[in-house]
Amino acid sequence: MKALKQFSIPFTGLKLGKHQFEFDIDKSFFDAFEYSLVKNGALKVEVELDKQETMLILNFHIFGTIQLNCDKCLAEFAQPIDITERQIVKFAEDDLESDDLEIIMLNKKESALDVSEIIYELINVSVPYINTCQQVGQTVKCDPEMIAKLEKLASGSAEQEEEQNDDPRWAALKKLK
Ligand SMILES: [Zn+2]
Repeated sequence: MKALKQFSIPFTGLKLGKHQFEFDIDKSFFDAFEYSLVKNGALKVEVELDKQETMLILNFHIFGTIQLNCDKCLAEFAQPIDITERQIVKFAEDDLESDDLEIIMLNKKESALDVSEIIYELINVSVPYINTCQQVGQTVKCDPEMIAKLEKLASGSAEQEEEQNDDPRWAALKKLK
């Protein structure tokens, strides 16, 4: 993963209490995560950070669209998403792993919190299991040409067609038309 410096919140200098942060997400964000299900999108992230003595409470609001590919016709379409999620960050002496998914442990020596990984997880988890053009509304329809091509490929008839084209007798017949 490439470092996404702009997503690092230096919290040590912050006063106790609530602070607001905003981030914009585009293709370059997803490029940093090699195995991301989502490769492109246009999103806004609002983070409310509540700094307390022993922990940070983060409230994420992520909204916008992510680019997905239709499972049926492979066309790319924009899926709107709107996520609100709370994340707690506790300080620890060592790099302890937390048992609770809602709690992240952060070493006391750290002075900044990189929220890019949290945002990445939240977006990828929100991707629907099945994706089709239709789910974004009646205005978008699957590409009928592509569906026909894919069906041909699946039945193997596309291969037969090619064989026919390569056959010199077939070419001769075509000339007669
Ligand atoms: Zn489609």
